[in-house]
Amino acid sequence: FASKLPNTATSIFTYMSRLALQHEAINLSQGFPDFDCSPRLIALVEQYLHAGHNQYAPMAGVRALREQISMKVAATLGVTYDVETEITVTAGATQALFTVIAALIRPGDEVILFEPAYDAYAPAVQVFGGIPKPVTLYASDFEIDWDAVTALLTPRTRLVVINSPNNPTARTMTDTDYRQLIRIIRDTDCYVLSDEVYEHIVYEEAKHHSAAQYEALRRRTFVVASFGKLYHTTGWKVGYCLAPMELTNEFRKVHQFNVFSVNTPIQYALADFMMDAEEYLRLSRFFQKKRDFLITALRETGFRPLPCHGTYFLVADYSAISDLPERIFCEILTKQYGVATIPIAAFYHQEINQHLIRICFAKRELTLQQAAARLKSVS
Ligand code: PMP
Ligand code: GLN
Repeated sequence: FASKLPNTATSIFTYMSRLALQHEAINLSQGFPDFDCSPRLIALVEQYLHAGHNQYAPMAGVRALREQISMKVAATLGVTYDVETEITVTAGATQALFTVIAALIRPGDEVILFEPAYDAYAPAVQVFGGIPKPVTLYASDFEIDWDAVTALLTPRTRLVVINSPNNPTARTMTDTDYRQLIRIIRDTDCYVLSDEVYEHIVYEEAKHHSAAQYEALRRRTFVVASFGKLYHTTGWKVGYCLAPMELTNEFRKVHQFNVFSVNTPIQYALADFMMDAEEYLRLSRFFQKKRDFLITALRETGFRPLPCHGTYFLVADYSAISDLPERIFCEILTKQYGVATIPIAAFYHQEINQHLIRICFAKRELTLQQAAARLKSVS
């Protein structure tokens, strides 16, 4: 069989979660909370299930939810997206990302992305015959070298994928980064796919800048977001895509045939739940406590945390403990010490070993405490 994705294996998240289960390890690998979402949100879903909202939703999403999304975006980012023509509810951010790529990429088109990169981008590009053009970023600051990005631009560059706050680096793009991006694509006709699923999880002096806030970008940008991250409901797979009307038209041409519409009762429930802005405005504070707890706990171990400005992931350096490559180290950590994490190497297309692991801290304090106790014994 001539595979369209000959170099793609089972995702690292599936692999490490399975390994964690096999070895009864504490699973800090795949990113999902080990606590439940709000009971009020569950009650709302139940209410709409019983009220008969159990058939297809409109293709673009339940209008009440699109209205709430539009209001949230206006309130938090200060930009307007039209409810009818510029907002589409999707089956998680993953489907939105895939749909944007499907709508834009033709064989031979080049797509610039930044590595370490979330694992969903490159395979989607390849499925449509596109060519990923990775810009490699290195620890410890993972700073973007915009000259390197400029050097990769060609007449075939169709799309630039950005992700801030970033999974896995936990960094946020600065205003200067965005201005550089604007400068280098100003005279091109390439588009931007901005994965902003962690927009409401940023810490201290870091600030979330959305590509939507820059007029020069907004015109050519698809912004992707996820309710999985917003409300601790990764299993519901509901997200959305914001884009100017012309781009949304193209997006929906594909969306209507790869999913058509998304879970109806959950959309109604989310629309009601979104009326309380406090629920997402306190997310950063909520996760900052967990981040700080983990950082403090790591002080008593051989792991050195790298700065974490956003997301619910922390990158830790284990070079004081071991010289082993990341993937092997993560296997041993899971099997022998009972803590599963993700090797940062998994987010690069070539083998790069920086002695770094990604730790998910969207966990109860007790879970983090138990994990830290195990990490203390690693030598
Ligand atoms: N983008 C990034 C950067 C993510 O971390 C995730 C989830 N881990 C997604 C997209 C996918 O989001 P969803 O679960 O809503 O499909
Ligand atoms: N986004 C989650 C992470 O980074 C995983 C999602 C998935 O398993 N595909 O861990």
